[in-house]
Amino acid sequence: MSTIRILEPTVANQIAAGEVVERPAAVIKELLENSLDAGAHRVTVDFSRGGKAQMIVEDDGKGMTGDEALLSLERHATSKIQLASDLDRISTFGFRGEALPSIASVARFTMQTRPASAPSGTEVAINGGKLVHRRDHGMAPGTRIEVANLFHPVPARLKFLKSDETEAAHIVRLVRLYAIAHPEVGFLLREDGREIFRSPGKAPLLDRVREIWGRQVAEEVTIMPLFERPGMRLSGLLGKPGVSRGTRQDLVTVVNGRPVDSRTMAFALTESYHTLIPKGRYPLAFVFLEMDPAWVDVNVHPAKREVRFRDEAKVRNFLIESVLAVLRARADDGLPTTTISSIAPATLLAAGVPPTVSAPIAQGGAPAAYVPPSASPAQPTHVPAVRLGWRLLSRLREERAVFETPTGLAILDIGAAHQRVLYESILAQFTAQKPISQPMLVPLSIELDPLPASVLKERMPLLASAGFDFEEYGRNFWRIQALPAWLEPEEALAFVRDLLAEMARREGDFGRPSLAYDALAKIAVMKARRKGDSLSDAELMELVQALFRTVQPGTCPRGRRTYVEWTDADLSRRFG
Ligand code: ADP
Ligand code: MG
Repeated sequence: MSTIRILEPTVANQIAAGEVVERPAAVIKELLENSLDAGAHRVTVDFSRGGKAQMIVEDDGKGMTGDEALLSLERHATSKIQLASDLDRISTFGFRGEALPSIASVARFTMQTRPASAPSGTEVAINGGKLVHRRDHGMAPGTRIEVANLFHPVPARLKFLKSDETEAAHIVRLVRLYAIAHPEVGFLLREDGREIFRSPGKAPLLDRVREIWGRQVAEEVTIMPLFERPGMRLSGLLGKPGVSRGTRQDLVTVVNGRPVDSRTMAFALTESYHTLIPKGRYPLAFVFLEMDPAWVDVNVHPAKREVRFRDEAKVRNFLIESVLAVLRARADDGLPTTTISSIAPATLLAAGVPPTVSAPIAQGGAPAAYVPPSASPAQPTHVPAVRLGWRLLSRLREERAVFETPTGLAILDIGAAHQRVLYESILAQFTAQKPISQPMLVPLSIELDPLPASVLKERMPLLASAGFDFEEYGRNFWRIQALPAWLEPEEALAFVRDLLAEMARREGDFGRPSLAYDALAKIAVMKARRKGDSLSDAELMELVQALFRTVQPGTCPRGRRTYVEWTDADLSRRFG
């Protein structure tokens, strides 16, 4: 017969550890969060063999007395909350008081800690949940925790660990996230004593990304100024149009200083970029959202970083509006989007652009208003070509052209640029209240199979609002009496057939009118002839002007780049 018994604390802790620490990076996460909660200004993380052999987190935070150190290893011992009602306004990372006892129960755990007020520190050593020793230890104020032989006391968990490289990759990404989220703290990450990165304290976000994520990533982003709504603030860095990733690896979202996963935020970002990057790929972003802690629920899962918002729709809309505003503003500036963040202030001045665009906006202060180049006295305002400052140097093969720009050298893909311009003009006509429709002197007639015919009947209001006028005049026979102005009569029949086939195929997708217009415009663009090779120089300049009047000049509607640019700085670097 079995008897009911209370589990021994060690066993209970090992079970809890299954929830809190699934892998080495999760241990580092808990230790890092404790260091941050303890008010550390610098944190050093060392690991070896993907963290399996050893992990050390050392901080200069407030430390613990000997008694506190022992107490911290008891289950549900926490200094961070007292009442259940405190859960509604958590501002620290930890609050469950589970991490330290859980970690200590599944590894060899050594903690050295000293509060500034005490003359010396304490060392507590635990192995597989059993106290090995507690003794005085001379040290500077702060805390150093070493975790060795993770999961040796529970071999069953060892086999879930991945290769050293994979576990190391998780650790590096995790520490990067915390480092980027905490500009006030200096982080140092080392693997086997070799420095992986060192975060610069209090530097502008872009410089921090360069140090922490690497130079290449820093060149792929543009600055997002501060946006505000009642109770919410948003700032950060956004990937340049056309830059994308196959995973969410570089989609970084930070809420109230906490790196988080949020479906809502990831979706809003991906959605905002939908014509700028290929389908199924993710944009690059470092987005910082601050809001009343009472509006965020972090208590979703002990080990996951997933957050929920009390009002998901509000957050989503705020993000989409802000991101689109940045992407549009870049276009309105008449400056190629891909250069804005990487241009040195001196270069900007030379180009007549006030250097405020590259100011470190994400650092708290309100962003300086960006003054478009035309407002500068050095720039004539009446000639658009001069305002943009692109000068045609040469054609490159049939489909490309080379330009000198105020900031470097650019190569334009004429077809892609043309598609972007056409796309937005068609889209604008679709979404206009009264599209321009051209009546046909001699109506076109078209015979349709039952399926496209039924789609046509169903979609009649949409097509009418886009400028088509169809009239049924027999079984499966239709007359087209008017066409949208952008559609040439000789292309109309083929276009209508393609359109109806597409509509039949993507039935569900047309629920929202904006999506339908978008799809219509894309189909229209695909049908449009490529006129690139026959453009005169003047027409080519007009195309460039038109391109930079579009909302997203950097990419074609399918996400391919319309131009690539090398800034003077890029070029100087290449020449070494
Ligand atoms: P929680 O963070 O949920 O409170 P932990 O088990 O992670 O639970 O830590 C228990 C307690 O130990 C904390 O509440 C804190 O008082 C103390 N502590 C842990 N790490 C540190 C540290 N690096 N510096 C100072 N105090 C710490
Ligand atoms: Mg904790």
